[in-house]
Amino acid sequence: MFSKNKGHTDYDIMTLQHILDDIYTEIQPHIGKGKVADYIPALKRIDPTKFGLSVCTINGERASVGDASERFSIQSISKVFTLTMAMKIAQEALWKRVGREPSGNRFNSLVQLESENGIPRNPLINAGAHIITDILTSAYEHPKEAIVQFIRHVADTTTIDFDLEVAKSERETGNRNLAMGYFMKSFGNIHNQVRVVLDVYFHQCAIAMSCEELAQAFLYLAHDGILPSTGERVIAKEDTDRINALMLTCGMYDSVGDFAYRVGLPSKSGVGGGIVSIVPGEMVICVWSPGLSENGNSLAGTKALELFVQKTGKGIF
Ligand code: GLN
Repeated sequence: MFSKNKGHTDYDIMTLQHILDDIYTEIQPHIGKGKVADYIPALKRIDPTKFGLSVCTINGERASVGDASERFSIQSISKVFTLTMAMKIAQEALWKRVGREPSGNRFNSLVQLESENGIPRNPLINAGAHIITDILTSAYEHPKEAIVQFIRHVADTTTIDFDLEVAKSERETGNRNLAMGYFMKSFGNIHNQVRVVLDVYFHQCAIAMSCEELAQAFLYLAHDGILPSTGERVIAKEDTDRINALMLTCGMYDSVGDFAYRVGLPSKSGVGGGIVSIVPGEMVICVWSPGLSENGNSLAGTKALELFVQKTGKGIF
């Protein structure tokens, strides 16, 4: 059994692998439940029975089950990478353009934007992520390349890339995202051309990664902002804590409260069916199962994380 002491990596990897094996058995009745995202046509083709689960510790140990090495569309999980990049660039000025409160609304809702003067509730819903991408579009000559390079670097994997079919599909059908962009532009809160910013946004969402790659890529958030493999600092310790706080309070959209109740880990989901969860000071867990709840979060993925925390006691509370 694991110790509840925070920050202690006193587990052994064989035990962790057994726990993942048990979860894989118990999760079977949940796989395939829910609805694969179909508002982005290219995501409709994904096999709903896929399931992958991977854990990577800050000591570099790994355990995985199922389709953990198969790449999928990371979608909104990309919002954490771009937020990391933008916090390094914009610092406090960023928070004049986007808030830090949960929205209580769907991830792609427009309703709050009018009464709140084009300032999105937080950087992890779509509108907030557009502001972050706008900051990166101003900062980099080639923002799409800068984003994918950043992700390749933290994942230590050069082959990570955009799924261009998904990016195209999302651009062709992304009227709601474009509407949000133009609406915020009317308040002066998008500085670049909306189509340019949204093209970057659609591409960042269309990056394909596996559970194993995502678990590795997010290790800096479990390790005070430092890449454990090289000792390189990605982002300041205080900003790491802030990103984890934002993930805990805003990372799962309008079911963030239910998710914190059941799982209790800073997490970010995407409509591709992935969820990444951070155990600060210890490890990253990534799960993938494409069937989604009403709120756009993976159903079997949420259940698997709940089982993981029950079996290991690794929730932050
Ligand atoms: N690309 C998706 C969108 O903008 C991302 C949403 C998500 O993963 N929740 O609608």
